[in-house]
Amino acid sequence: MNIELEIFSPVHQLKNELFDKQDLKVFIKRDDLIHPLISGNKWRKLKYILKKASDQNKTHLVTFGGAYSNHLLATAAAAAKFGFKATGIVRGEEVENDTLFLCKLHGMQLIFVERESYRDKPSLFNKYFADDDEAIFIDEGGASAEGANGCAELVDELTEIYDHIFCACGTGTTAAGIINGLQKHQLNTEFHAIPVFKNGGFIKDEIDRFLITPADYQLHTDYHFEGYAKTNTELINFIKTFVADTGILIEPVYTGKMLYALYDLAAKNYFKPGSKILAIHTGGLMGLLGMKEKF
Ligand SMILES: *Cc1c(COP(=O)(O)O)cnc(C)c1O
Repeated sequence: MNIELEIFSPVHQLKNELFDKQDLKVFIKRDDLIHPLISGNKWRKLKYILKKASDQNKTHLVTFGGAYSNHLLATAAAAAKFGFKATGIVRGEEVENDTLFLCKLHGMQLIFVERESYRDKPSLFNKYFADDDEAIFIDEGGASAEGANGCAELVDELTEIYDHIFCACGTGTTAAGIINGLQKHQLNTEFHAIPVFKNGGFIKDEIDRFLITPADYQLHTDYHFEGYAKTNTELINFIKTFVADTGILIEPVYTGKMLYALYDLAAKNYFKPGSKILAIHTGGLMGLLGMKEKF
């Protein structure tokens, strides 16, 4: 099986008065343009997971997520594209929404499980698929060393050197991969992780477990807006202004919080004048469809 996608992820400059005044050059890497559904970091994380599945003659992808999971949708779309069967084990009672509609449209089977049993994913996998030799376990969010390896390739694509790179964090796999990529290229770029959860300090352990060599990086734990998928008027207004000013779509769960952090730090004179900063657009735009009422 040939598991390849042609990557289109250009870097665009973000211009505005704040960045001019502070003498900052700010760019955004458009991983959101990689694929409409196998979007952003989700393709990067799946790439080597799917290659491993194919090498092991596994034809059935089994993975996990919440009812709005970008990873479930990316897995469903990738399974359809590359000829795998897919099952999504979904946290919580049975619901219908746009994300799950698109998962099903791509042929993914959904199994809804109550929150308590959802915690133990390996035992859920065994419960349903112990006898299926063709099934492969893929952790929630694609969290894995293979996932980090795919994300490290983002750094191979960079043609300029940046002083800072910003990225939103869920499982921390993408952050770990990018840090590994920076180390591989011996770059002194400072990496900034923005956890999207409350009390996001725990993400340090999650990132560190996928680092090839220990590394320093910045963890900004104050930009969660009260928790995962939580928003407020300030964040929504920031997103509206950003989208209208740049023509680049972002959403409130990940990229909105990450860019809010970058803009807020810039306004607080956090960066040295002359700094070059790169924000990673990790995609996930389908998530917007579930949040229309917040706008
Ligand atoms: C899943 C997702 C993330 C989180 O990536 P991790 O590797 O789990 O940290 C960030 N941004 C978007 C848009 C996502 O969909």
